[in-house]
Amino acid sequence: MIATSMAVLQHTYAVPLARAAARSRSLSAFAVPTKAGVSVPSNARESQVLLGMSEPELQRLALDFGQEKYRGKQLHHLLYQRKVKDIQDFSNLPLAFRNDLQESGWRVGWSPIYQTVKAADGTIKLLIKLEDNRLIETVGIPVEDEKGSMRLTACVSSQVGCPLKCSFCATGKGGFSRNLQSHEIVEQVLAIEEVFKHRVTNVVFMGMGEPMLNMKSVLEAHRCLNKDIQIGQRMITISTVGVPNTIRRLASHKLQSTLAVSLHAPNQKLRESIVPSAKSYPLEALMKDCQDYFQKTSRRVSFEYALLAGVNDAEEHAVELADLLREWARGSHVNLIPFNPIDGSDYRRPYKKAVLAFANALESRKVTVSVRQTRGLDASAACGQLRNEFQKSPLVVESEEMESQPEFAVAC
Ligand code: SAH
Repeated sequence: MIATSMAVLQHTYAVPLARAAARSRSLSAFAVPTKAGVSVPSNARESQVLLGMSEPELQRLALDFGQEKYRGKQLHHLLYQRKVKDIQDFSNLPLAFRNDLQESGWRVGWSPIYQTVKAADGTIKLLIKLEDNRLIETVGIPVEDEKGSMRLTACVSSQVGCPLKCSFCATGKGGFSRNLQSHEIVEQVLAIEEVFKHRVTNVVFMGMGEPMLNMKSVLEAHRCLNKDIQIGQRMITISTVGVPNTIRRLASHKLQSTLAVSLHAPNQKLRESIVPSAKSYPLEALMKDCQDYFQKTSRRVSFEYALLAGVNDAEEHAVELADLLREWARGSHVNLIPFNPIDGSDYRRPYKKAVLAFANALESRKVTVSVRQTRGLDASAACGQLRNEFQKSPLVVESEEMESQPEFAVAC
């Protein structure tokens, strides 16, 4: 199916209209300029992807291919409303346009689902196989509200693996391969919609990876999810453990989405022992950035706190946390996540009594708290469990292996 780069190159010379098309889409770092100044993928695998493009970009693309502008609007509808996966199935577009797009190396950008695992509570974990055979995980979490309508949250990955290695997180233990491109983030949401046959109402960047280490793609995906797939900005949460200088950069975009910071400890010493990356981002500097974020965006940062029995779950930690928040982030919300067990970890989940005592100690100091209900535990799809079972296998699969992979459990 995929043309060789030489074939793409030849075609680009043969169809002048495709030149501008190739230029109009900002190609990844892999793109190489040709003699004619045309960008073509350096490798046929890095074909150009429609998913993630905005309506104006699609209109430009149509014009670049000698089509009328309204074809761009049709493309937009086909991609984001009808969710068509193959250019040849864009049946209301002229065959010649479809052929031109394909022959110039364009594709829609959906990847196959490699494995689907359903937990007893209805949470579903998908393993998506990317073009380079790398696997990412995405989790769909359905919640029925009092009126019987369903909220469907997609917990999306931003990287293949994670380089930050928080001591209690399964993803970090599996290593890091690469950043995801924006369409690889967007397609996770579309895949969840397809599997659940339901619109995704909320998106949390809490799957594999550290979103702030891949901010460009995360912001592009955020734009597409909001503007093209029509998920309200307030329904999107970006979670970070804290990467120096990135919170300020994010603030400059003035998103109406929630920034969640994974704190996990009320002081630098304890935080460093749990989250190694905290060594290069002192707690005071992180809290100052959160304070500035609120001043710039009028959006309060919320804080996540994984409760690890005997490590950070004592009442004195709650008191210290309340003091820290009073100083830097008054009125912020804390989301407590009782530890989700992962293989090879000595951490333990605290008893319910300890979780409630911790929550009460915060609430009595006027900090609003929620305790995250664990979803998908039996499918290893809960927060931090992504790759729990799968980590024994590589991040990359060869296609022949597909049939022989053992069943594994999913858990956000
Ligand atoms: N890198 C981002 C997103 C990671 S996952 C971040 O750190 O915020 C989302 C949340 O799950 C983070 O707060 C993370 O610390 C937490 N988490 C990871 N492993 C966990 C585990 N085993 N049990 C409970 N929470 C966990």
